[in-house]
Amino acid sequence: MAHIQVLPPDEARKIAAGEVIDRPAALVRELIDNAIDAGGSRIELSIDGGGSRRIEVIDDGAGMEKEDLELCWRTHATSKIRSMDDLKSAETLGFRGEALAAAAAVSHLEILSSLDSREAWRLEVGPGEALGARIERCQRKQGTSVRATGLFDTIPARKRFLKREWSEANLCRLTFIDKALAFPAISFRLTLDGKLKSALPVASSLKERFASLLLDSQQAAYLHEIHNAMTHFSVSIVVGGPELARPNRCQQYVFANGRRIQDFSLMQALEYGTQGWFPNGYHPVGAIFVDIDPAMADFNIHPAKREVRFADASTIHHAVTSCLRDFIRHRNQQYAGQIYTVPELEHLFAAESVPQFQNKPNQENQYTVVQTLAQDALHDPPPEYAPQALLARPLTPEFTSSFVPQTVQAAQTEFTVQTSSPAFHSGHGLRYVGKAFNIFLIIEKDNRLFFIDQHAAHERILYEQFLARPVPIQELLVAIPFQTESEEDDLFLTTRRDALERLGVVIKMDCGSWRIEALPAHWNLSDSETVRTILDLKRAGADLAEHWLATLACHRAVKEGDDLDERVALALAEAALALPVLRCPHGRPILFEMNRDLLLRAVKRV
Ligand code: ADP
Ligand code: MG
Repeated sequence: MAHIQVLPPDEARKIAAGEVIDRPAALVRELIDNAIDAGGSRIELSIDGGGSRRIEVIDDGAGMEKEDLELCWRTHATSKIRSMDDLKSAETLGFRGEALAAAAAVSHLEILSSLDSREAWRLEVGPGEALGARIERCQRKQGTSVRATGLFDTIPARKRFLKREWSEANLCRLTFIDKALAFPAISFRLTLDGKLKSALPVASSLKERFASLLLDSQQAAYLHEIHNAMTHFSVSIVVGGPELARPNRCQQYVFANGRRIQDFSLMQALEYGTQGWFPNGYHPVGAIFVDIDPAMADFNIHPAKREVRFADASTIHHAVTSCLRDFIRHRNQQYAGQIYTVPELEHLFAAESVPQFQNKPNQENQYTVVQTLAQDALHDPPPEYAPQALLARPLTPEFTSSFVPQTVQAAQTEFTVQTSSPAFHSGHGLRYVGKAFNIFLIIEKDNRLFFIDQHAAHERILYEQFLARPVPIQELLVAIPFQTESEEDDLFLTTRRDALERLGVVIKMDCGSWRIEALPAHWNLSDSETVRTILDLKRAGADLAEHWLATLACHRAVKEGDDLDERVALALAEAALALPVLRCPHGRPILFEMNRDLLLRAVKRV
């Protein structure tokens, strides 16, 4: 007896359908895609029972006439392309003609459609072909409704692998968000088990849609939208400022021609482009929308089109990072000197790291802010003055009141010292109160008190200077010879030699070994540290100059514990408060602010 059998068509279809529709959310995506492709301006999605019981998508798009309705659920039936060649110009989300066929193979499908609101038809089909399709007249306005019920009822194996109802419903909701993010000009509604969960009116921009889906109304103000158009593609970027920083990358999205894709390199570009704008360990929220000439991308490499192959991925990557950098530079100039105040910083860390924080103006919240400020300012705190255990403790009044004066007391101790030699008053109304914990310059201005990290502030000041004018170079009397340890090192030195030279590092290869012949003036590292610092730049990629200047600034800046003369301290503080960006080149804040009111509250003097 032969072992091979050709599967009956219905079985084969069910199996093939699994690739397209592996769970309810996949069907949700296909149906919304179809509604968008049909030009719908209002799209409604309803889900019952996590999608297994019912998924319904209603649109007001072009609709189908009777002949098309009869064909639409057939395998490889599509109106969107005629041949493989058309993929090069297909602007639609769908093109394989598989979705409705797969849906009919794994659920009971009911489609109502009308071209013109006068004549309407209703088609019923599946699950499987066995029942055949029935078509009859019905009533409907222009557009299409597709209802899938009993999903996977005839495929118990698949049904067993579904998650609980609520998590399948949640996956459907996430798919809905993906689609709604990319099409702000369409109004969307989502209903889960009869309850309206989301009603999105037409939005005037990507940014507005992003905010209404993912942020609360106060946060929307910190969202920005940037565009960059090139020959074969354009990118639109929605990005949140540091006020919306997140400790993870959950709210980062990448889209290509309206499809959410998994593209790690573009997500990376969002991070590179915003480097220095966010504290270490924090990430921007945002979305990158790439719109590309279909001839320059292959969308046909993943069954659910979740991946795309770009003909020129690195150009797109560069377009994203460069326009983000330009934007941040421009913005920093515009907002020169803007300082984070306490309420602004509330946003920075309220969202995730301090879940108990609410936007109610009561005393407890004020303390929370103080705590997060301190936590943030003391980035890698030596254990004696910001033990992690202390910060992790619940915010009891005892704890906060014991914590707040701790900082204040230090200031006061110094202040007593300062009064014996009168504190220096500057022309800009700054008063140098003194230094706390060997690192914080404490500056009073009107009712405000600034705690400035002397190292981080100086680092940023130098970094800005280096960016503004090139660092002078000094030729070495005796060149520093060195050996590389890997081919990667050699490749780096060979390919980036010119770039390094522009940064003041002159390197030559001679008789198979490398030599450093010149370095920036006042270079003060040992030979081995110098070599290591240069080779470490391998990891900087396109950001070589920024990394190098940050390193240079870090080495030159005053350190924690360095004693500063009062005049120097005040000059440093003045320069720091006038900086365009109040963050060190690695992204940490260089200062934080308290005010009189907050301190008076801390001792209940209200
Ligand atoms: P594809 O989208 O790849 O063409 P589908 O199986 O999703 O394949 O749909 C088959 C065809 O049915 C589409 O090409 C389109 O002509 C028609 N169709 C599906 N959904 C709709 C809709 N909501 N409105 C109008 N036409 C639709
Ligand atoms: Mg489709």
